[in-house]
Amino acid sequence: MTGKKTPIVCACGCNAVTCGDEFIQGHDSFVFDAIIRHVGGISNLRKIVERITGAPIVVQR
Ligand SMILES: [Zn+2]
Repeated sequence: MTGKKTPIVCACGCNAVTCGDEFIQGHDSFVFDAIIRHVGGISNLRKIVERITGAPIVVQR
């Protein structure tokens, strides 16, 4: 095992190739923002995730 990562296509859908990470730096936030818009806000996303996982999301400050 060399530890060298294999280039892959960015998971955001931009079709650019990363240096082995799931996303090009910053592109994960594009997906996050799109998800929030898609479900109509963070509170809606929370409800959806809690319903699917069957467990409350614990917010820690
Ligand atoms: Zn991307």
